[in-house]
Amino acid sequence: MALLSGKTALVTGGGRGIGKAIVLDLAGHGADIIVSDIDETAAQETASLVQGTGRRSLAMKADVSRDQDVDALVKASIEAFGRIDILVNNAGITRDNLLMRMSEQEWDSVLSVNLKGAFLCTRHVVRGMMKQRSGKIINMASVVGVMGNAGQANYAASKAGLIGFTKSAARELASRNIQVNAVAPGFIETDMTGKLPEEVKQNYRTGIPAGRFGTTQDVAGVVLFLSSPASDYVTGQVIHVDGGLLM
Ligand code: NAP
Repeated sequence: MALLSGKTALVTGGGRGIGKAIVLDLAGHGADIIVSDIDETAAQETASLVQGTGRRSLAMKADVSRDQDVDALVKASIEAFGRIDILVNNAGITRDNLLMRMSEQEWDSVLSVNLKGAFLCTRHVVRGMMKQRSGKIINMASVVGVMGNAGQANYAASKAGLIGFTKSAARELASRNIQVNAVAPGFIETDMTGKLPEEVKQNYRTGIPAGRFGTTQDVAGVVLFLSSPASDYVTGQVIHVDGGLLM
């Protein structure tokens, strides 16, 4: 039997990048998937790839920073699949700028999507998980939330906040057999990081003991572990997937 057979996973920001790799990995191990993204076409494309693996999928457009979107997303997911066993709060954005030049809008948008989005999705999903007396919640943090990064005060604050949120939720939900963990990727090659100038990337690469950037698959493998029964006694943890950048 497949590792996640009979399980349903909801992945936000699942249309591309790390989220898409997570969707395909979880489906490849037997889970049915709700692929949610603000980009409806991307969500649909990823969902159709899931169907190619023989698993069921639902594509849903939702902006995780809007409560009514998240409410509709979770209701439609339960209607389609009856339950949600795994929630991956992956949707995230950057609006980089030096602190002195950072606008209120740049600050608010990053905090709204990266931190409030995870809160809203968790709040809507957790009720069902509590009734089921089981669940896995995985929050996509970042090494930047632990180390900080010049030009990313908004992003670092959102990811540091997500780590505090993860630990608090883990403490609240542990007795209900719901595990809440965070993954903190380092530099992973996706569209988000593809925008950086080559010299900046070279600078980052020299600081990574593994000598290479991570792949989306490197992150998806750890999310698979945190989604599976193999991690049933792991909660409130932040697992770094960064080639040794921070240790
Ligand atoms: P990505 O390629 O930009 O993909 C993120 C996805 O989330 C996109 O499809 C994006 O849609 C979607 N999204 C954006 N705003 C949303 C919203 N309000 N509601 C729902 N979906 C939304 O990013 P990625 O590199 O795969 O990153 C995924 C996660 O990993 C993020 O939380 C990021 O902070 C984290 N992370 C990434 C790295 C890295 O090196 N790449 C490192 C550490 C942590 P649009 O394309 O329409 O914007």
